[in-house]
Amino acid sequence: SCSGKENCNIMEHKGNIKNIIGVISGKGGVGKSTVTTLLATLLKKSGYKVGILDADITGPSIPRLFGINEERATIKQVGEDKAEFEPVETKTGIKVMSLNLLIQNEDDPVIWRGPMITGVLNQMYGDTNWGDLDYLLIDMPPGTGDIALTVMQSIDLSGIVVVSTPQDMVSMIVKKVITMAQKMNIDVMGVIENMSYIKCGSCGEKTRIFSKKPAEEHAKYLGVKLLAELPVDLDLIERMEKGEIEDYIIYNVEYDKIVNEIV
Ligand code: ADP
Repeated sequence: SCSGKENCNIMEHKGNIKNIIGVISGKGGVGKSTVTTLLATLLKKSGYKVGILDADITGPSIPRLFGINEERATIKQVGEDKAEFEPVETKTGIKVMSLNLLIQNEDDPVIWRGPMITGVLNQMYGDTNWGDLDYLLIDMPPGTGDIALTVMQSIDLSGIVVVSTPQDMVSMIVKKVITMAQKMNIDVMGVIENMSYIKCGSCGEKTRIFSKKPAEEHAKYLGVKLLAELPVDLDLIERMEKGEIEDYIIYNVEYDKIVNEIV
């Protein structure tokens, strides 16, 4: 909230949202969107009311992962130049709002500059009927750019979860993202190391790939808590390609632990 903050420009939203968690990464392609959908699914399966705001405007991928990319959000005109959006619900009832649910053709690129993107993001956040939510997860644009900054400044985040790969963990850009959040007094809940290891199909042994150093050491370097290590998993890729992320059979990963860390 704005209490005690100078020049506060925290935006209003519709509905009753208890916690807003940003999911962010240093760069693209590390699995930020994947992890956002997994977290949402886990929270939903744990009995919470969950929504996702796909704020990765230039690369919105959330609808496809849930297989709802053919659906469109309902837009209701209220007043002369104001609209209200009804989010699209996934199979298990996660409420999703994404630019790809508002534009006609999901393959159309967004050819907008920063201020336009910021405006649309504000609308998607503020004018969506979220209803009652325990958790709204925001799939943030990667890095420390304009849009990520806007999200951190204008949305009342309870905290952020950082997603990184082993190589990326030690890179300066992840550290920058964490420092940016801390400078804005946003709680960095911890880091999830994605694509940490592969698991041997026959013996079950975990083999770390991309880095010999343990994930804990990387988290320590970043000065944040290690929330989880996720394997490279072909089953996950297959589910994602089919838009069935909610049916992904979770094995070998301590998912309960992640939920406990987050709630
Ligand atoms: P980002 O949101 O950071 O750009 P994505 O979530 O879109 O990244 O993931 C990038 C690519 O990596 C996708 O093709 C996704 O299927 C793949 N991927 C992400 N996490 C995993 C994982 N744990 N195992 C296998 N493939 C993964």
